[in-house]
Amino acid sequence: MAIKEQPKSPRFRIIANILLAVSGLFLLLNLFLPGLFASGPAGVPYSLFIHQVQEGEVSRVSVGQNQILYQLKTENAEPGQVFTTTPIFDLELPKLLEQKGVEFAATPPPKNTWFTTLLSWVIPPLIFIGIWQFFLARGGGGGGGPQGVLSIGKSKAKVYVEGESAKITFADVAGVEEAKTELVEIVDFLKTPGRFTQIGARIPKGVLLVGPPGTGKTLLAKAVAGEAGVPFFSISGSEFVELFVGVGSSRVRDLFEQAKKQAPCIVFIDELDAIGKSRSSNGFYGGNDEREQTLNQLLTEMDGFAAGDATVIVLAATNRPESLDSALLRPGRFDRQVLVDRPDLSGREAILKIHAQKVKLGDDVDLRAIATRTPGFAGADLANLVNEAALLAARNLRERVAQEDFAEAIERVVAGLEKKSRVMNETEKKIVAYHEVGHAMVGALTTGNGRVEKISIIPRGMAALGYTLQLPTEDRFLMNETELRGQIATLLGGRSAEEIVFNSITTGASNDLQRATDLAERMVTTYGMSKVLGPLAYQQGQQSMFLGNGASNPRRAVSEDTSKAIDSEVKEIVETAHEQALEILRQNRDLLEAIATQLLETEVIEGEKLHSLLGQIKPVANS
Ligand code: ADP
Ligand code: MG
Ligand code: ZN
Repeated sequence: MAIKEQPKSPRFRIIANILLAVSGLFLLLNLFLPGLFASGPAGVPYSLFIHQVQEGEVSRVSVGQNQILYQLKTENAEPGQVFTTTPIFDLELPKLLEQKGVEFAATPPPKNTWFTTLLSWVIPPLIFIGIWQFFLARGGGGGGGPQGVLSIGKSKAKVYVEGESAKITFADVAGVEEAKTELVEIVDFLKTPGRFTQIGARIPKGVLLVGPPGTGKTLLAKAVAGEAGVPFFSISGSEFVELFVGVGSSRVRDLFEQAKKQAPCIVFIDELDAIGKSRSSNGFYGGNDEREQTLNQLLTEMDGFAAGDATVIVLAATNRPESLDSALLRPGRFDRQVLVDRPDLSGREAILKIHAQKVKLGDDVDLRAIATRTPGFAGADLANLVNEAALLAARNLRERVAQEDFAEAIERVVAGLEKKSRVMNETEKKIVAYHEVGHAMVGALTTGNGRVEKISIIPRGMAALGYTLQLPTEDRFLMNETELRGQIATLLGGRSAEEIVFNSITTGASNDLQRATDLAERMVTTYGMSKVLGPLAYQQGQQSMFLGNGASNPRRAVSEDTSKAIDSEVKEIVETAHEQALEILRQNRDLLEAIATQLLETEVIEGEKLHSLLGQIKPVANS
C-alpha cells in the first residue's frame, strides 16, 4: 500500500510556477539592461577631464548626476566622439567651465519609459507570489498534502491506494480475533453489498474501534483498507482542529465530498476523541467553538448520506470512548463499536510470532514462554519487545536472538533501564538488600503474587533502588481475598525485613505502603471483602476502563460512621498483613541473612538458584 497525495488543482500550480519563472527573467533583465546600454563612450579619469578643461581642449559638457559626458574640440579628437567621466562632488566645476568658455548644461534625469514603469509595478508582486508559492509547495510536502492558506479548508485526508508494496492484511494482525471478525464483515459489505441489501439489511455507516493505546486499532484499519480493495481515506482527528474557527468543519465537508465521489470507499478517522469530545464537558473555558462546529459537521455528514445511495463506511478509532460525545454513538452514526483489547496469552504468542518473523531467532527461543511472562502487554509493546531483544543480541555480537535476550528485554520494559551509574553507599546497599529479600521471601510463601524470578539491588528506572521481579505464571482475571492479602503482605515484606534486621525504618518503603493501602482500600470499598461493611460498593462511578484500577475515585456519600469503619477496616487489613510478613521473616531469620548476604555479593540472584534458596523457607503455622 502506498500513500498518495490527493492531486490538488494542478493547473493552479503550473500557472504559478510559470509566473515565477517569468518574473525571475524580468528581474534579471532589469539588472543587466542598464549595464548593456551604458557601455557606450570611453571612460576618462576625472583628473584628466579637469586637466583637459584647463588646457582649453573641451568644447561641450553635459553634467549628469552620476556621469559627465563631454566632447573635445575638433583638433583634439575625432568629431562627435563623446567622453565620459565620473564626477566627484565639485562645486568649482561650473565656475571653471565658465572661465574656460566651455558650453555646458545639466543632463535631464533619464526618462522612464512606459515599459520600465510597468516593470517596476509588476515585478515585485510577481516575485512575492513566486516566493509564496515556493514555500507553500515545500510546506505541503511535509504536512500531508499540498496545503496552504489558499486551500485552508481542503481536507487533509491521505488516500491509500492499493499497490504492490507492503500491503497490510488481516494476517498482520493477531490477538484481536473478535475485532477481526467484525471487520471482516465490513470488508464483505464493501465487496458484495448486494448480498446484504438484497435481504434488506442496512449496511452500517460507522464503526468505532475502541481500545487502549497500542492494541492495533490503526493497524486494523489499514488491514481493512488492504483487504477491501476500495479507496481508503485516512485522517487523524487532530488534523481537523485548526487555529481558525470554521476550518475543521469545512475540512469535514470536503472529506465527505471527495469520499462520496469515490464510493464505495472507507473514511478512517484516527484519534476521534480530538474532535468528538463530549460537548458538555468542555464548558470549562467558555466552550470550544471550533471543535463543536467540526463535530456538528461530522454528525451532519454522517446523517447526510443514506445507506442506499453511496457506500461510504466511516471507521474511527479512539482510546478514550468515555470522553466521546454521546451524539456520535447514536444509531445511524457510530452504531457499531468494536473492542480492540489487550491480547490474552495465546494472542500475545500469535503477535510475537508475527513480529519475530522480522528477526533471526535462535533455536532456544520459546515464544510461548515469553508470552506467559508478558501479561498486560499490548501489540505495540510486544513489537517493541522483539525489537529490543534483537538490539540486545546485536550488541552482544550474536547472530541470532536468544531467549536470554528476550528475558533481558522484558526486564527493561517492565523495570526500566539498569542504572549502573547511581551509586549507593554500603549501608544503603545493605538496607536495600534486606528489603528486597524481605519482599521475595514473603512473596514466595504467599499466594497471588506470581513466582519470584529475580532479586536485584542494581537501581532501575526512576524510583526503585532495588527490585524484586515477580512474573505471573498464567493470566489471572480474578483474585480471591487470600491472594489479595498475600499481595499486601508481600508489599510490606520489604519494610518488615528492615524492621527486623535494623530495628528502624527508612523512607524506602513509601511506594510499597502506598500500593498496599490502595489495595486494602479497594478490598473494602470496591470488592466488598470486609465483613464489617458488607458487600457494598463505596467507591463511586465506573472505574475507567483502561487506566487500570483508578484508586482515586471519589467515595459515595457515606455517613461519618461508615467512613470511620472503612478507615479502620483498611487499617486492620494492612496491619494483619504486616504481622503476617513479620512472622514469616522472623521464623526464617537465618535464611533472610543468608540470601541477603549472597545478594550483597552478587547484586543479582535469579533463576534456579533463587528458586532453590526460596524453596528452603519454612511455612509459618498460621499463615
Ligand atoms: P493503536 O492505533 O491501537 O494505538 P497501532 O495500530 O498504531 O496501535 O499499533 C502500533 C504497532 O504495534 C503496529 O504497527 C504493530 O506493529 C504493533 N501491533 C499492535 N497491535 C498489534 C496486533 N494485534 N498484531 C500485530 N501487531 C500489532
Ligand atoms: Mg492509533
Ligand atoms: Zn519495597
